[in-house]
This record gives sequence, structure tokens and C-alpha cells, in this order.
Amino acid sequence: MNHPIEHRDNELYIESVSAAEIAKEFGTPTYIYSKALIEKAFLSYQNILASHQSLICYAVKANSNLAILDILARLGAGFDIVSEGELKRVLTAGGDPKKIVFSGVGKKPSEMNCALKSDIYCFNVESEAELTMLNEVSKKIGKTASVSIRVNPDVNPTTHPYIATGMRKNKFGVPKNEVIKLYELASRLPNISIQGIDCHIGSQLVDLNPLIESIHQLLELIDVLQVKGITLEHINLGGGLGIIYRNEKPPSIADYVSSILNELDGQNIKLIIEPGRSIVGNAGILITEVQYLKTTSHRNFAIVDAAMNDMLRPALYDAWLEILPVRLDRRNKTKAKTWDIVGPVCESGDFLGHQRDLSIKQNDLLAILGAGAYGFSMSSNYNSRGRAAEVLVDSNNVHLARNRESFSDLILGENLLPKKENS
Ligand SMILES: *Cc1c(COP(=O)(O)O)cnc(C)c1O
Repeated sequence: MNHPIEHRDNELYIESVSAAEIAKEFGTPTYIYSKALIEKAFLSYQNILASHQSLICYAVKANSNLAILDILARLGAGFDIVSEGELKRVLTAGGDPKKIVFSGVGKKPSEMNCALKSDIYCFNVESEAELTMLNEVSKKIGKTASVSIRVNPDVNPTTHPYIATGMRKNKFGVPKNEVIKLYELASRLPNISIQGIDCHIGSQLVDLNPLIESIHQLLELIDVLQVKGITLEHINLGGGLGIIYRNEKPPSIADYVSSILNELDGQNIKLIIEPGRSIVGNAGILITEVQYLKTTSHRNFAIVDAAMNDMLRPALYDAWLEILPVRLDRRNKTKAKTWDIVGPVCESGDFLGHQRDLSIKQNDLLAILGAGAYGFSMSSNYNSRGRAAEVLVDSNNVHLARNRESFSDLILGENLLPKKENS
């Protein structure tokens, strides 16, 4: 085996299992994940960080399937959560609450309450209003909340505007010039304990410079705080390392972490990172079946059974995802044409890829690569479509990580009006 997801003898394999076999057993559309690739990515982070006091908190929102959280919890991962739902997922999967950080601009008091009772490691606080609320909630239940203040370093991460988060105009974090004041307030609040400082400047980053610039800003703030008698235990740089979807050139995990460690050289401070995409993104594919081919004078459409409700990234970010036939046509019996790969949802934004040169015919299977992150976790039931099945492959073992949603799943919790009484 060379790579866990590759064509062998013209058949697409995930580890030792063919994608066509999985389609036959579980139907389409189906997400398939390689356990080996998830572990490999996590271990790359873990190995290079072994020499430094650190915590790797997997960003749950990238892919929150319990089986995936389970894999990472067993490797000793921490978790970065953004809701009570994610907190409960991590605890259900056996994650250690002492390794959980809670991010997000809009944590509700009920969510704070739940996280405090679970004794999570740290709240990444994003505003003064949130800080005072957290103090109140903690006081009510006799707890002390450990906090980090999320700094908005106002750097341009040169990524898609919807996934840039560290610019002045973004809703995230506290502007640099207000950070010290907020720490001073935190130090006076009785049910708050200052733990660290954090930032997260965006996602799918391929250039390290904006991150390095942010580290410098955080280190400056740490120095100022030190002078004021506020000592921090950790610096949290968020996630965001990009992956290769097409021709991007992100640094490797090892290079990315080395550059960070380089900047922290000589600092006696624990490093936290929150990678999501770079752990699961390239470990997953989405397989789909071609339903109909429709050729018009302008365009050729291949209508497949996966849609924007299954994979939103092309519609939301105009993201480019590699699309390959599951079975390569060795003798080239079908001539390649240029296709728009579209789903059945009633929206013109419902596409998976535009203008792809592929030789395909009706009922062929296609694989959408780089689908492990922000794929299933962003999926919805739009058009009353049950969400896809999720399958985890471990060598030659196939584990159904999530059943395909049935009609009864779809209407779970919905209520018809009361029956009319006969008059
Ligand atoms: C989304 C997010 C992450 C993970 O980002 P990736 O690009 O998936 O690595 C980490 N931290 C925070 C605060 C986030 O919002």
C-alpha cells in the first residue's frame, strides 16, 4: 500500500477496501474516512510537539463524528469545541474534559454552565460581555472559570474572506488595544482565573507570515501582562493550517509546527494548537453515483446523488474539490467530455464541480476528494434529504460510523397539529 486513498488496478481503494464495495453495501452518497490517515496527521503534530509542553486540541467542528473523536481521544488529543453539543460529543466519545478548550463568540449561559460542571480546561473568551457573564455563571454554581482572551491581531491571512477571522472587520476576538484592559478586569473578577492568551486568524492558511506576525503580537502582550503581574500558562495559536485540494502549497505539519516553536524559542510557556482541517480533510472522500447525464448546447451536466446539502463547500466558498471516477476506464471506452457535476437540489448553487474533464456514463460512481473536513459536519436536510452515511475504514475493516438518515430520522421531533374533534 502506497497511499491509503488511491487507485490500484484502476479501482479506488480506501486502505484495503474498494470504494465500489462500500457503495454496494451502504449505498450513495456516503462519506468514507481512512483511520490510518487521521492517525498519521495527528501523530505528525504529536511527534514534532513532543519536545515542548503542549496540547493539541482537535477542532471538533471540522468533523464531529463520534468514531473520529474516539480515534483522537485514544491518541491523547484535546478538543476545541464551539457549542454544548460538541462538548457532549467529546465526552460521549471518551475525551478528557481537562483537555477541552471552548471557543466561539456566542457561548450562552446554559452552555457555560454545562462546560463549568464538566470542568473543562479553558474558555477562550471573545468579549468583555462574555467575560462578565462567565464570572456570573461561575459564581452561581461555586466554580472558577479558567480563561484565555482571544486576540484579534488584525492580520490578513490571505484566505477566502468567509474563513478569515483575524481581521479588524471580523466578529472574532478582542481588538489588540483593548486586550490588556480586559485582562485587568479578569484579574479582578472573583470567579475567573487567568490561564492563557489565544488567537485563530483563519482557515486553509498556506502562508505562514500572518501567523508569525500574530505570534509576535501575542508575545508582546504577554510581556506587558507580565510587567503588570499577570502571568500566563499558555499561548494558543488556534488552527488553520491548509491542505492540498488542488495546487495549494501549504507547509507540512512538521514545518508549520517547527516555525511556531522557532518563534517561541526561550519562552517557558505551554503551546496549544487547534487543528481541524489538517487532521481530517484529506482523510475523507464522498462517493456519489451519477444519476443522469444531460447535455445541452451550452453545457454538459452530470447529475449525481450527492448535493449541496451533503457537501456545502463549493456552494458556500466556491471551493474546488477534486472529482475522480471510482473506477478508471482503462481502455478509454467512454470519451472524456467537460462536465458540470451537479446535485438534485433546487438551487443553481447546487454543484460539486464545474467544467471537469471526465469520461463518465450513467450509474458510474464518482469520488469527491478532500471531503473529510467541513463536509458531513456542514451537511443539512435541505430538500428533505436524509444525510449521507459515514463509513470508517481501518485496514480491511469497515465500520459504519453513522447510518444513512431515514425518513423517521428526518421528521424526528416534528409535531402535526392536534386532531380536530368531531363536532
Ligand atoms: C475553525 C476553528 C479552528 C480549526 O480551524 P482549521 O482550519 O479546521 O484547522 C480552530 N480554532 C478555532 C477557534 C476555530 O474557529
